[in-house]
Amino acid sequence: MPRSHAQLPRLFVEPDLGSGTRLTLGKDQSLYLAAVLRKAVGDAVVLFNGRDGAWLCRLTSDSKKSVDLEVVEQIAAQTPASDLWYGFAPLKSERLDYVVQKAVEMGAGVIQPVMTQFTQVHRLKTERLAANAMEAAEQCEVLSVPEIAPEITLDRLLSDWDAAHGDRKLILADEGEASSSPISALEPLRGARIGLLVGPEGGFSDTEREKLRALPFVVPISLGPRILRADTAAVAALAVIQSIIGDWR
Ligand code: SAH
Repeated sequence: MPRSHAQLPRLFVEPDLGSGTRLTLGKDQSLYLAAVLRKAVGDAVVLFNGRDGAWLCRLTSDSKKSVDLEVVEQIAAQTPASDLWYGFAPLKSERLDYVVQKAVEMGAGVIQPVMTQFTQVHRLKTERLAANAMEAAEQCEVLSVPEIAPEITLDRLLSDWDAAHGDRKLILADEGEASSSPISALEPLRGARIGLLVGPEGGFSDTEREKLRALPFVVPISLGPRILRADTAAVAALAVIQSIIGDWR
């Protein structure tokens, strides 16, 4: 997206976007624009819907209850949603928010909570995850909001993998992997469909690690000699993956 529009607020909306169309925002987004940001008639904002790219829009009314906008011009063409699958064992409250937001910023296209033996969170608020993903997408200028998949157990994920993911390789952030550079493990995956799996605060159980490492589609990597917290490991692993085999389009 042109940097000239980088200062404008960006909001995700559902309706189609095209020159001359007009739309009215809901209560929350209207309050945010008119009251929090004090936007007024004539001010510009950027809207995207995951299908039509990003559009420069102008306020035609600035009521805190329902802001009206007219769609002016497209400022970024729609790009394909990311195919990077990111599986993680849910963490507690704000660390969970953090992990979801960082996954979006780091290019995840599907965010999949995976319940492992030592996962300490059992009642996931999917709408909270979706709101964090949406907020991160608006802030980091991606044009598609990543999908938050319904939680799944590790056993079910692995037994369904071939049917659900075909030839996708699953990169395993394995705290037990001998500390060596992940470059040699990741290089052969360049151009392949990939996923990443990060364990919970308590790590993977020995049984889980053995099961994972025995699977042909699993590629274990080390993130170095120190044990990282799960949320640190998520960002580190995504950064390593994007640096070595990411799509820098
Ligand atoms: N049992 C430790 C491990 C938790 S680390 C503890 O309780 O602190 C949580 C997750 O982060 C691990 O399951 C793994 O997916 C990832 N991780 C942490 N350090 C790592 C490393 N050095 N290499 C690869 N993955 C790591």
